[in-house]
Amino acid sequence: MDIPRIFTITESAHRIHNPFTPEHLATLGAALRLEPGARVLDLGSGSGEMLCTWARDYGISGIGIDMSQLFTGQAKRRAEELGVADRVTFIHGDAAGYVADEKVGVAACLGATWIGGGVAGTIDLLAQSLRPGGIILIGEPYWRQLPPTEDVARECEASALSDFLILPELLASFGDLDYDVVEMVLADQGGWDRYEAAKWLTMRRWLEANPDDDFAKEVRARLTLEPPRYAAYIREYLGWGVFALMAR
Ligand code: SAH
Repeated sequence: MDIPRIFTITESAHRIHNPFTPEHLATLGAALRLEPGARVLDLGSGSGEMLCTWARDYGISGIGIDMSQLFTGQAKRRAEELGVADRVTFIHGDAAGYVADEKVGVAACLGATWIGGGVAGTIDLLAQSLRPGGIILIGEPYWRQLPPTEDVARECEASALSDFLILPELLASFGDLDYDVVEMVLADQGGWDRYEAAKWLTMRRWLEANPDDDFAKEVRARLTLEPPRYAAYIREYLGWGVFALMAR
């Protein structure tokens, strides 16, 4: 079981697989006023940076589930490196349908809401692991500016303009699901640059090390096309944020 190989090539050197910087993650942890010992569940935990740094900085304990073997291995090594391996557990597996044995105070899915079949389904899934009064975290894109055409939406890696909402609509949609938005931390263009531009050096180094790989042609094409495409589209049109929700 694993995710498509292109991600484990382009994002192999990322600690955060989203347009968040370490500062955004720390801001989010502080904004939630986490109590030491709080339990956090993270579906699609990637390389584990959120749980590992929050365990170090805020004393939480956590469980992360991720379908990438590479990222899960990186998460375990990061936990050792930060001295928190006794408090965070990373499981390699499909998080679809995952419900924690012991209820958590914070249940998160940052940038992987397809796990629950979309935002609403992922909120329902996370809610099954949440103790009463707990907080759900959803990390999701939104349109910072509405793309003028469907073609522009597709250049932002959306399948259609309707994949995402503008920020006021996204916030209202959580209310429609009977949740209060109690906090949010938004990415910025600097964060997008860290997420997207970091892929370019990784791709370049990978190409140098793997010139005869079956994937080399695809990676070469991406490295050639992506910098100007990113600057024209994703950087201008796409926002991303983490929204903290509490059931009404
Ligand atoms: N939340 C992490 C990772 C976001 S990228 C961070 O912010 O850094 C999306 C992640 O979802 C990837 O790590 C990918 O491996 C994982 N993923 C994709 N499908 C999944 C599934 N069905 N179950 C668990 N993880 C999944």
